[in-house]
Amino acid sequence: SLRILDSCPGWRPAYVAAVTRSDHDGRRPAMLLGQMMEVPLLVSAILRHAARQFGDTEIVSKRVEGDLHRYTYADCERRSRLLASALQKAGIGDGDRVATIAWNGYRHVELYYGVGGMGAVFHTLNPRLHPDQIAWILNHAEDRVVAFDATFLPLVEAVASRCPKVERWLVMVDEDKQPRVNVPGLENYESFLRTGDERWTWPVFDEKRAVALCYTSGTTGNPKGSLYSHRSTVLHAYGAALPDAVGASARDVILPVVPMFHANAWGLPFTAAMVGSKLVMPGPHLDGKTLHELFESEGVTLAAGVPTVWLGLLQHVEANGLRFSTLERTMIGGSACPLAMIRTFRDKFGVEVKHGWGMTEMSPVGTISRLRPRHLDLPRERQHELLAKQGNVLFGVDMKIVDDAGKELPWDGKTYGNLLARGPWVISSYFKDDNDPLQYDDNGDGWLPTGDVATIDPEGIMQITDRSKDVIKSGGEW
Ligand code: AMP
Repeated sequence: SLRILDSCPGWRPAYVAAVTRSDHDGRRPAMLLGQMMEVPLLVSAILRHAARQFGDTEIVSKRVEGDLHRYTYADCERRSRLLASALQKAGIGDGDRVATIAWNGYRHVELYYGVGGMGAVFHTLNPRLHPDQIAWILNHAEDRVVAFDATFLPLVEAVASRCPKVERWLVMVDEDKQPRVNVPGLENYESFLRTGDERWTWPVFDEKRAVALCYTSGTTGNPKGSLYSHRSTVLHAYGAALPDAVGASARDVILPVVPMFHANAWGLPFTAAMVGSKLVMPGPHLDGKTLHELFESEGVTLAAGVPTVWLGLLQHVEANGLRFSTLERTMIGGSACPLAMIRTFRDKFGVEVKHGWGMTEMSPVGTISRLRPRHLDLPRERQHELLAKQGNVLFGVDMKIVDDAGKELPWDGKTYGNLLARGPWVISSYFKDDNDPLQYDDNGDGWLPTGDVATIDPEGIMQITDRSKDVIKSGGEW
């Protein structure tokens, strides 16, 4: 407002008078505030909403145990509360980190909500990293509890002795399948849950509090942590749910192949619960055959994953002469989506493609490709080409391209430059890292350099042309 006042010099005395008056008599506010409730945006509210509004909507999970597990949002909310209260009884408090090493499944969803909802921080670890890096991250994050799928027991055995701050290692498996190994602090997740109290209720606190921590190795040096807040997570879930973004609804059945350890599975466990979509979790079963069977048996309408996964799926479907009877759209991101994949999905199978770009540091969704009315009459191939670009930003993210001196470059679709982003679900700094990662403009506003090089056209459509960071992605992982 001071900037506006600078261009309206006549207003300044009145403003100053108002501020001074308010400072002196303490009655009149310096600015006119809206008179709306200050209800904090908390992730527990998303799950409570899902349990109250869509209590019988299912979360279906392929389990490490080998079977297909089914329960509802109401069950998920009850068990997440049990988990939260069990953690509290075990001495886990505000801001403490609870790590997960897990596939996509219902217990992992409980950890998202149970840990985050009680005021602690869930920290998803990427099991594909080298054990040395996993141990380094666990120590850097100072995790006090680690919950993991039985698949990752060898990994836990390899790192446990190097992580003295971890007090409990919770194996997420049925009690009768509890492994007998010598890891100090090893407990069964289900037994631990039973120490919780069902009467426990979700606390209300400041929405700026941290809820989730996700390390990325998408930069040089040691992995760096993105620490999301409740506010950023809820806003991102709203943004991602919009029709031209994920476009999720209560009529959808969403299958996130994108791992819950990679940028919160693009926020889908939050977006799905917010709008009441059924969730289908594939667990460790990511091959084309199992995925296609799940799509068909559960009526999946929307799936999300990296191009490599869809390559395996398409190869299986084409080789066996299969179709998709319910799948309406796929979210593809994490790496550039090949034009041929878009063509196959759209022309051969009638499945719409939503190609997205983002980063762990951006919660992660930044842009999603879309067709606007004027594109609908274009030849199909031209439409595919448009969808192969990374697309327009969601409201909530602002982007620009700049040259090496930081000067903003034109949106002409030809000039390329360093891509910068800014918004309420973009990090302002890394966890426990004193270096300021932002680049500042003349107004003093900080922008996150993405390490991507891009063009932006006059319609705001962004296209990645190169990468300035010196790391390589394969199969969606660095
Ligand atoms: P991560 O933090 O691991 O999700 O990686 C983020 C990075 O992945 C981005 O900065 C890009 O370099 C790359 N990336 C993500 N989505 C896309 C996409 N649709 N096209 C090209 N590169 C992408």
